[in-house]
Amino acid sequence: MPFIYQTLPLQTACALAILDSVWRLAEAEERSWLDTALAVALCLVSGIFLVRLPLFPMLFDGTASYHAVKTSGLETTLLTLSGLVTPLVVFLLLARIISGVITDYRRRSERDAMTGLLNRRGFDQSLTRTLKRGGAVILCDIDHFKQVNDSYGHAVGDTIIRAFGDLIGRSGYRAGRIGGEEFALILPDCSARQAARVAETLRLTFYHTEHEALAAGHRISASFGIAGFAPADTMDAVLLAADRALYRAKDNGRNRVVISAPSETAAELRHAA
Ligand code: GH3
Ligand code: MG
Ligand code: MG
Repeated sequence: MPFIYQTLPLQTACALAILDSVWRLAEAEERSWLDTALAVALCLVSGIFLVRLPLFPMLFDGTASYHAVKTSGLETTLLTLSGLVTPLVVFLLLARIISGVITDYRRRSERDAMTGLLNRRGFDQSLTRTLKRGGAVILCDIDHFKQVNDSYGHAVGDTIIRAFGDLIGRSGYRAGRIGGEEFALILPDCSARQAARVAETLRLTFYHTEHEALAAGHRISASFGIAGFAPADTMDAVLLAADRALYRAKDNGRNRVVISAPSETAAELRHAA
């Protein structure tokens, strides 16, 4: 077979393999600027391969020697372009791998694997960052959850935890799973009363949710404790105030929202300390 045609299968395979990588990058749900830059650079590389396919057979006849093709102006231009773009691809690829590892590490260290919400560590960091803005915290705890586990098994218990996580995750506020069946939300720039309205909507929605895994009509409820915070408050004091409110919600019969009493506010606890 003439030399010029021998290289075509390899060129086609390289171009298709690179385009496949570009397609996968384009398909990704979360795309960073690194992905876009890498996709553009890969398109350029694949373009360099693809341009040979129609041009080389047209410009050189089947009897052209390897030396003639190699030293032609077109090949020199393509090789120069390739020499510029290939290091860029390698650099972008390395940067993407490193940024992927860092993002994955951060996600694992700050996120709860079961619900995808912030874990305790991520939640504490987020609350610490928000304290200066002022706002409110909602603590939530699923009621009589042990009975769900005892009656239906741990796997069903997990689906209820995920359902609650989905619900508060859709609230639009930063949400975390801070314990087994305990959750929390941060509402920056909100008063305790506004937070109580958000919690009431969550409470009603959860209570009226039909869970396929449970017997028909089996309702599950959750209790909510709210504490407002001002820039001078500490995270521990805010969480203690919300926890006391949650405790009262449990004590008063569960399935309710309680705002921390003035004597339980973070400011009062701070002064007491
Ligand atoms: P209360 O209304 O007072 O909150 O009662 P409760 O039964 O919900 O509270 P308790 O703290 O006694 O029980 C919580 C249970 O949650 C006990 C534990 O086995 C269960 N639990 C904790 N983490 C998980 C989990 O990841 N999956 C499941 N299925 N259960 C869990
Ligand atoms: Mg509970
Ligand atoms: Mg609990």
